[in-house]
Amino acid sequence: MSDQSKPGSFQLPYAGKYKRVSAFDFPRFALTKKDEKGIIMLMDPQPTCAFVHWVVTGIRLDNKTQVKTTKGGYFICLGAPDKLLKDEADPEHCPYCAHAEDIDGAPVGSARFKACTHLIHYGTTPGGTLANPPGYPPQFLLKVWVFGQQMYNGLTDKRELWGDDTFRLHDLMVTCVSSQYQNYQIDVMPKSIWLEPQWTQYDPQTKKPVNGLAIQIAQLYQQTRLKDLTPLLGKLTSVEEAGKFCAAAKTYVEQLGGADAAAGMTPADVEAAVNAHGAAGPAGAAAVNIDDLFGQPASPPPPAQPVQQPPAVTQTPPSVPQQPQATFQAEVTVAETAPQSAPPPPPAPAQNGGAVDFDSLLG
Ligand SMILES: [Zn+2]
Repeated sequence: MSDQSKPGSFQLPYAGKYKRVSAFDFPRFALTKKDEKGIIMLMDPQPTCAFVHWVVTGIRLDNKTQVKTTKGGYFICLGAPDKLLKDEADPEHCPYCAHAEDIDGAPVGSARFKACTHLIHYGTTPGGTLANPPGYPPQFLLKVWVFGQQMYNGLTDKRELWGDDTFRLHDLMVTCVSSQYQNYQIDVMPKSIWLEPQWTQYDPQTKKPVNGLAIQIAQLYQQTRLKDLTPLLGKLTSVEEAGKFCAAAKTYVEQLGGADAAAGMTPADVEAAVNAHGAAGPAGAAAVNIDDLFGQPASPPPPAQPVQQPPAVTQTPPSVPQQPQATFQAEVTVAETAPQSAPPPPPAPAQNGGAVDFDSLLG
Protein backbone atom coordinates (compact mmCIF):
# COMPACT_ATOMS: atom_id res chain seq x y z
CA MET A 1 0.00 0.00 0.00
CA SER A 2 1.42 3.37 -1.03
CA ASP A 3 1.50 6.35 1.31
CA GLN A 4 -1.88 8.01 0.85
CA SER A 5 -1.03 11.10 2.89
CA LYS A 6 1.21 12.57 0.17
CA PRO A 7 -0.09 14.17 -3.07
CA GLY A 8 0.18 12.00 -6.14
CA SER A 9 -1.02 8.64 -7.36
CA PHE A 10 -1.96 5.85 -4.97
CA GLN A 11 -3.07 2.23 -4.95
CA LEU A 12 -6.56 1.25 -3.93
CA PRO A 13 -8.11 -2.15 -3.19
CA TYR A 14 -11.26 -3.09 -5.06
CA ALA A 15 -13.46 -2.28 -2.10
CA GLY A 16 -17.05 -1.15 -1.93
CA LYS A 17 -16.27 1.68 0.47
CA TYR A 18 -14.20 3.41 -2.21
CA LYS A 19 -16.92 3.26 -4.83
CA ARG A 20 -18.32 6.67 -5.65
CA VAL A 21 -21.78 6.53 -7.13
CA SER A 22 -23.55 9.57 -8.51
CA ALA A 23 -27.31 10.03 -8.66
CA PHE A 24 -26.72 10.54 -12.39
CA ASP A 25 -25.64 6.90 -12.71
CA PHE A 26 -29.13 5.77 -11.73
CA PRO A 27 -31.22 4.67 -14.74
CA ARG A 28 -33.35 7.54 -16.04
CA PHE A 29 -36.84 7.13 -17.46
CA ALA A 30 -37.23 8.63 -20.92
CA LEU A 31 -39.06 7.71 -24.10
CA THR A 32 -37.10 9.03 -27.03
CA LYS A 33 -39.24 8.36 -30.12
CA LYS A 34 -42.60 9.89 -30.99
CA ASP A 35 -45.52 7.47 -30.31
CA GLU A 36 -43.24 5.14 -28.30
CA LYS A 37 -45.12 3.72 -25.31
CA GLY A 38 -44.05 2.52 -21.90
CA ILE A 39 -45.81 1.00 -18.88
CA ILE A 40 -44.71 2.47 -15.56
CA MET A 41 -45.71 2.43 -11.90
CA LEU A 42 -44.83 5.44 -9.74
CA MET A 43 -43.11 4.26 -6.56
CA ASP A 44 -42.56 7.23 -4.23
CA PRO A 45 -45.72 8.20 -2.32
CA GLN A 46 -44.74 11.84 -2.91
CA PRO A 47 -42.37 13.25 -5.53
CA THR A 48 -39.29 15.19 -4.45
CA CYS A 49 -39.71 18.74 -5.71
CA ALA A 50 -37.73 21.95 -5.99
CA PHE A 51 -37.82 25.26 -7.74
CA VAL A 52 -34.77 25.62 -9.97
CA HIS A 53 -33.11 28.38 -11.99
CA TRP A 54 -31.37 27.93 -15.32
CA VAL A 55 -28.03 29.75 -14.92
CA VAL A 56 -25.50 30.42 -17.66
CA THR A 57 -22.19 28.87 -16.62
CA GLY A 58 -20.00 29.41 -19.65
CA ILE A 59 -19.63 29.95 -23.38
CA ARG A 60 -19.50 27.16 -25.91
CA LEU A 61 -17.73 27.56 -29.27
CA ASP A 62 -18.91 25.43 -32.19
CA ASN A 63 -15.70 24.36 -33.91
CA LYS A 64 -17.35 24.03 -37.30
CA THR A 65 -19.44 27.19 -37.47
CA GLN A 66 -17.39 29.27 -35.01
CA VAL A 67 -20.72 30.32 -33.46
CA LYS A 68 -20.61 31.02 -29.75
CA THR A 69 -23.53 30.10 -27.52
CA THR A 70 -24.07 29.97 -23.80
CA LYS A 71 -24.17 26.80 -21.76
CA GLY A 72 -25.59 26.39 -18.30
CA GLY A 73 -27.25 24.21 -15.73
CA TYR A 74 -30.08 24.06 -13.22
CA PHE A 75 -29.47 25.46 -9.74
CA ILE A 76 -31.81 24.92 -6.80
CA CYS A 77 -33.68 28.06 -5.79
CA LEU A 78 -32.68 29.17 -2.30
CA GLY A 79 -36.06 30.71 -1.49
CA ALA A 80 -38.44 29.34 1.15
CA PRO A 81 -40.61 26.57 -0.36
CA ASP A 82 -43.87 27.98 1.03
CA LYS A 83 -43.11 31.40 -0.45
CA LEU A 84 -42.12 29.83 -3.78
CA LEU A 85 -45.26 27.69 -3.98
CA LYS A 86 -47.25 30.91 -3.57
CA ASP A 87 -45.27 33.49 -5.58
CA GLU A 88 -42.76 31.44 -7.64
CA ALA A 89 -40.01 33.83 -6.49
CA ASP A 90 -38.28 34.75 -3.24
CA PRO A 91 -35.72 37.47 -4.10
CA GLU A 92 -35.25 38.27 -0.43
CA HIS A 93 -33.59 34.91 0.25
CA CYS A 94 -32.45 33.70 -3.18
CA PRO A 95 -29.78 35.55 -5.19
CA TYR A 96 -30.90 33.67 -8.31
CA CYS A 97 -34.43 35.03 -7.87
CA ALA A 98 -33.01 38.54 -7.29
CA HIS A 99 -31.11 38.35 -10.60
CA ALA A 100 -33.70 36.36 -12.56
CA GLU A 101 -35.10 37.64 -15.85
CA ASP A 102 -37.94 35.91 -17.66
CA ILE A 103 -36.46 36.29 -21.15
CA ASP A 104 -34.65 33.94 -23.53
CA GLY A 105 -30.88 34.12 -23.14
CA ALA A 106 -31.03 35.71 -19.69
CA PRO A 107 -27.99 35.00 -17.50
CA VAL A 108 -30.30 33.73 -14.76
CA GLY A 109 -33.76 32.37 -15.53
CA SER A 110 -36.87 32.59 -13.37
CA ALA A 111 -37.56 29.88 -10.79
CA ARG A 112 -39.31 26.87 -12.27
CA PHE A 113 -40.92 23.89 -10.58
CA LYS A 114 -39.36 20.46 -11.09
CA ALA A 115 -40.19 17.10 -9.58
CA CYS A 116 -38.55 13.69 -9.43
CA THR A 117 -39.76 10.24 -8.48
CA HIS A 118 -38.70 6.61 -8.60
CA LEU A 119 -40.75 4.42 -10.90
CA ILE A 120 -40.89 0.87 -12.15
CA HIS A 121 -40.53 0.65 -15.93
CA TYR A 122 -41.83 -2.64 -17.28
CA GLY A 123 -40.19 -4.25 -20.27
CA THR A 124 -42.44 -3.67 -23.26
CA THR A 125 -42.25 -3.42 -27.01
CA PRO A 126 -42.11 0.17 -28.34
CA GLY A 127 -45.87 -0.22 -28.88
CA GLY A 128 -46.46 -0.79 -25.16
CA THR A 129 -47.09 -4.56 -25.09
CA LEU A 130 -45.39 -6.52 -22.32
CA ALA A 131 -42.30 -8.13 -23.82
CA ASN A 132 -42.01 -11.15 -21.50
CA PRO A 133 -42.29 -14.55 -23.19
CA PRO A 134 -45.51 -16.47 -22.38
CA GLY A 135 -45.34 -17.93 -18.89
CA TYR A 136 -42.44 -15.74 -17.79
CA PRO A 137 -43.02 -12.82 -15.40
CA PRO A 138 -42.75 -9.26 -16.73
CA GLN A 139 -39.30 -7.73 -16.67
CA PHE A 140 -38.84 -4.46 -14.82
CA LEU A 141 -36.28 -1.83 -13.92
CA LEU A 142 -36.26 0.76 -11.16
CA LYS A 143 -35.64 4.20 -12.67
CA VAL A 144 -35.89 7.87 -11.77
CA TRP A 145 -38.04 10.35 -13.65
CA VAL A 146 -37.63 14.13 -13.62
CA PHE A 147 -40.61 16.13 -14.80
CA GLY A 148 -41.97 19.66 -14.76
CA GLN A 149 -45.07 21.53 -13.66
CA GLN A 150 -47.25 20.42 -16.54
CA MET A 151 -46.65 16.71 -15.87
CA TYR A 152 -47.12 17.22 -12.12
CA ASN A 153 -50.48 18.85 -12.85
CA GLY A 154 -51.48 16.05 -15.19
CA LEU A 155 -50.58 13.35 -12.66
CA THR A 156 -52.41 15.27 -9.96
CA ASP A 157 -55.54 15.36 -12.13
CA LYS A 158 -55.35 11.56 -12.45
CA ARG A 159 -54.89 11.04 -8.73
CA GLU A 160 -57.79 13.33 -7.85
CA LEU A 161 -60.04 11.51 -10.31
CA TRP A 162 -59.04 7.97 -9.34
CA GLY A 163 -58.48 8.46 -5.61
CA ASP A 164 -55.76 7.58 -3.12
CA ASP A 165 -53.29 4.85 -4.08
CA THR A 166 -54.03 5.52 -7.77
CA PHE A 167 -50.39 5.02 -8.66
CA ARG A 168 -50.10 1.76 -6.70
CA LEU A 169 -53.35 0.16 -7.87
CA HIS A 170 -52.96 1.24 -11.49
CA ASP A 171 -50.07 1.28 -13.93
CA LEU A 172 -49.68 4.25 -16.23
CA MET A 173 -49.38 3.97 -19.98
CA VAL A 174 -46.99 6.69 -21.10
CA THR A 175 -46.96 7.75 -24.76
CA CYS A 176 -44.27 10.00 -26.17
CA VAL A 177 -46.01 12.95 -27.82
CA SER A 178 -42.90 14.92 -28.72
CA SER A 179 -39.49 13.28 -28.65
CA GLN A 180 -37.72 16.63 -28.75
CA TYR A 181 -39.23 17.92 -25.53
CA GLN A 182 -40.03 14.58 -23.90
CA ASN A 183 -43.66 15.48 -23.68
CA TYR A 184 -45.79 12.52 -22.63
CA GLN A 185 -49.45 11.61 -22.64
CA ILE A 186 -50.41 9.68 -19.51
CA ASP A 187 -53.25 7.16 -19.39
CA VAL A 188 -54.32 5.26 -16.26
CA MET A 189 -54.44 1.49 -16.86
CA PRO A 190 -57.31 -0.66 -15.49
CA LYS A 191 -54.99 -2.57 -13.14
CA SER A 192 -51.47 -2.86 -11.84
CA ILE A 193 -49.25 -5.63 -13.18
CA TRP A 194 -47.43 -6.23 -9.89
CA LEU A 195 -50.64 -7.09 -8.05
CA GLU A 196 -51.97 -9.60 -10.58
CA PRO A 197 -52.35 -13.11 -9.05
CA GLN A 198 -50.67 -14.49 -12.16
CA TRP A 199 -47.37 -12.98 -10.98
CA THR A 200 -47.81 -12.48 -7.25
CA GLN A 201 -48.84 -15.12 -4.72
CA TYR A 202 -51.10 -14.09 -1.82
CA ASP A 203 -51.64 -15.55 1.63
CA PRO A 204 -55.17 -17.02 1.47
CA GLN A 205 -55.94 -15.82 5.01
CA THR A 206 -54.41 -12.36 5.19
CA LYS A 207 -54.64 -11.63 1.43
CA LYS A 208 -51.17 -10.09 1.67
CA PRO A 209 -48.61 -10.69 -1.08
CA VAL A 210 -46.07 -13.26 0.10
CA ASN A 211 -44.09 -14.14 -3.02
CA GLY A 212 -43.56 -13.22 -6.63
CA LEU A 213 -43.48 -9.96 -8.54
CA ALA A 214 -44.84 -7.62 -5.84
CA ILE A 215 -42.24 -8.85 -3.35
CA GLN A 216 -39.40 -8.60 -5.88
CA ILE A 217 -40.35 -5.03 -6.79
CA ALA A 218 -40.74 -4.02 -3.15
CA GLN A 219 -37.30 -5.42 -2.30
CA LEU A 220 -35.64 -3.73 -5.27
CA TYR A 221 -37.20 -0.42 -4.26
CA GLN A 222 -36.23 -0.82 -0.60
CA GLN A 223 -32.64 -1.79 -1.32
CA THR A 224 -31.57 0.33 -4.26
CA ARG A 225 -33.60 3.54 -4.35
CA LEU A 226 -31.75 6.84 -4.00
CA LYS A 227 -32.14 8.34 -0.56
CA ASP A 228 -31.96 11.86 -1.97
CA LEU A 229 -33.19 12.85 -5.41
CA THR A 230 -32.14 16.52 -5.09
CA PRO A 231 -29.02 16.24 -7.33
CA LEU A 232 -31.29 15.19 -10.20
CA LEU A 233 -33.26 18.43 -9.88
CA GLY A 234 -30.36 20.86 -9.73
CA LYS A 235 -27.17 21.94 -8.02
CA LEU A 236 -27.55 23.11 -4.45
CA THR A 237 -25.27 26.04 -3.62
CA SER A 238 -24.82 28.41 -0.72
CA VAL A 239 -26.17 31.96 -0.92
CA GLU A 240 -22.60 33.22 -1.29
CA GLU A 241 -21.87 30.82 -4.16
CA ALA A 242 -25.16 31.81 -5.78
CA GLY A 243 -24.07 35.46 -5.82
CA LYS A 244 -20.82 34.51 -7.56
CA PHE A 245 -22.61 32.36 -10.13
CA CYS A 246 -25.05 35.18 -10.93
CA ALA A 247 -22.17 37.62 -11.45
CA ALA A 248 -20.28 35.14 -13.64
CA ALA A 249 -23.44 34.41 -15.66
CA LYS A 250 -23.91 38.12 -16.39
CA THR A 251 -20.30 38.37 -17.56
CA TYR A 252 -20.72 35.47 -19.99
CA VAL A 253 -23.90 36.90 -21.49
CA GLU A 254 -22.32 40.36 -21.81
CA GLN A 255 -19.37 38.79 -23.62
CA LEU A 256 -21.80 37.37 -26.17
CA GLY A 257 -23.45 40.76 -26.68
CA GLY A 258 -26.39 40.58 -24.30
CA ALA A 259 -29.40 38.34 -23.78
CA ASP A 260 -30.67 38.75 -27.36
CA ALA A 261 -27.45 37.35 -28.77
CA ALA A 262 -27.30 34.66 -26.11
CA ALA A 263 -30.82 33.40 -26.77
CA GLY A 264 -29.55 30.55 -28.89
CA MET A 265 -31.35 28.00 -26.78
CA THR A 266 -35.03 28.36 -26.08
CA PRO A 267 -36.26 27.23 -22.65
CA ALA A 268 -37.73 24.16 -24.35
CA ASP A 269 -34.35 23.30 -25.87
CA VAL A 270 -32.82 23.69 -22.45
CA GLU A 271 -35.49 21.50 -20.94
CA ALA A 272 -34.84 18.75 -23.49
CA ALA A 273 -31.10 18.98 -23.01
CA VAL A 274 -31.43 18.77 -19.27
CA ASN A 275 -33.84 15.85 -19.40
CA ALA A 276 -31.46 14.02 -21.69
CA HIS A 277 -28.24 14.77 -19.87
CA GLY A 278 -29.03 15.39 -16.24
CA ALA A 279 -29.63 18.46 -14.17
CA ALA A 280 -26.41 20.23 -14.91
CA GLY A 281 -23.95 19.79 -17.69
CA PRO A 282 -20.17 19.97 -17.41
CA ALA A 283 -18.81 23.47 -17.38
CA GLY A 284 -15.61 25.01 -18.70
CA ALA A 285 -13.19 27.65 -17.48
CA ALA A 286 -14.85 30.43 -15.58
CA ALA A 287 -14.33 33.15 -13.02
CA VAL A 288 -15.45 30.72 -10.33
CA ASN A 289 -14.49 27.08 -10.11
CA ILE A 290 -17.60 25.63 -11.64
CA ASP A 291 -16.20 22.15 -12.11
CA ASP A 292 -15.80 21.77 -8.37
CA LEU A 293 -19.37 22.77 -7.78
CA PHE A 294 -20.83 20.59 -10.47
CA GLY A 295 -18.84 17.54 -9.46
CA GLN A 296 -19.23 14.55 -11.72
CA PRO A 297 -20.73 15.37 -15.12
CA ALA A 298 -24.11 13.93 -15.85
CA SER A 299 -24.21 10.78 -17.90
CA PRO A 300 -26.74 10.27 -20.69
CA PRO A 301 -29.73 8.08 -19.94
CA PRO A 302 -29.26 4.38 -20.57
CA PRO A 303 -31.17 2.73 -23.41
CA ALA A 304 -34.69 1.89 -22.29
CA GLN A 305 -34.16 -1.84 -22.47
CA PRO A 306 -35.61 -3.94 -19.72
CA VAL A 307 -33.27 -6.02 -17.64
CA GLN A 308 -33.94 -8.39 -14.80
CA GLN A 309 -30.96 -7.34 -12.72
CA PRO A 310 -31.53 -4.53 -10.27
CA PRO A 311 -29.40 -1.43 -10.91
CA ALA A 312 -26.01 -1.62 -9.25
CA VAL A 313 -26.55 1.42 -7.11
CA THR A 314 -25.84 0.72 -3.48
CA GLN A 315 -24.65 4.07 -2.23
CA THR A 316 -26.43 7.34 -1.88
CA PRO A 317 -25.06 10.66 -3.13
CA PRO A 318 -23.72 13.17 -0.60
CA SER A 319 -26.54 14.34 1.59
CA VAL A 320 -27.90 17.82 1.08
CA PRO A 321 -30.68 19.66 2.86
CA GLN A 322 -34.02 18.06 2.16
CA GLN A 323 -36.17 19.46 -0.59
CA PRO A 324 -39.88 19.97 -0.14
CA GLN A 325 -42.03 17.03 -1.02
CA ALA A 326 -45.32 17.88 -2.60
CA THR A 327 -48.25 15.54 -2.66
CA PHE A 328 -49.98 14.91 -5.96
CA GLN A 329 -52.60 17.47 -5.10
CA ALA A 330 -53.50 20.69 -6.81
CA GLU A 331 -51.61 22.94 -4.42
CA VAL A 332 -49.83 24.76 -7.21
CA THR A 333 -51.81 26.88 -9.59
CA VAL A 334 -50.25 27.68 -12.94
CA ALA A 335 -51.75 28.59 -16.28
CA GLU A 336 -50.57 25.47 -18.05
CA THR A 337 -52.88 22.84 -19.43
CA ALA A 338 -52.58 19.21 -18.46
CA PRO A 339 -51.69 16.64 -21.11
CA GLN A 340 -54.69 15.66 -23.17
CA SER A 341 -56.02 12.17 -22.82
CA ALA A 342 -59.28 10.35 -23.09
CA PRO A 343 -61.43 10.38 -19.95
CA PRO A 344 -60.81 7.27 -17.90
CA PRO A 345 -63.45 4.65 -17.16
CA PRO A 346 -65.06 4.75 -13.73
CA PRO A 347 -62.54 3.87 -11.01
CA ALA A 348 -62.51 0.23 -10.00
CA PRO A 349 -60.27 -1.28 -7.34
CA ALA A 350 -57.59 -3.64 -8.57
CA GLN A 351 -58.16 -7.33 -8.01
CA ASN A 352 -56.05 -7.79 -4.94
CA GLY A 353 -55.04 -4.22 -4.23
CA GLY A 354 -57.54 -3.64 -1.47
CA ALA A 355 -55.74 -5.89 1.01
CA VAL A 356 -52.21 -4.64 0.32
CA ASP A 357 -50.64 -2.34 2.90
CA PHE A 358 -48.27 -0.45 0.59
CA ASP A 359 -46.51 1.42 3.37
CA SER A 360 -45.41 -1.78 5.10
CA LEU A 361 -44.69 -3.52 1.81
CA LEU A 362 -42.42 -0.78 0.47
CA GLY A 363 -40.84 0.31 3.73
ZN1 LIG B 1 -34.69 31.55 -6.53
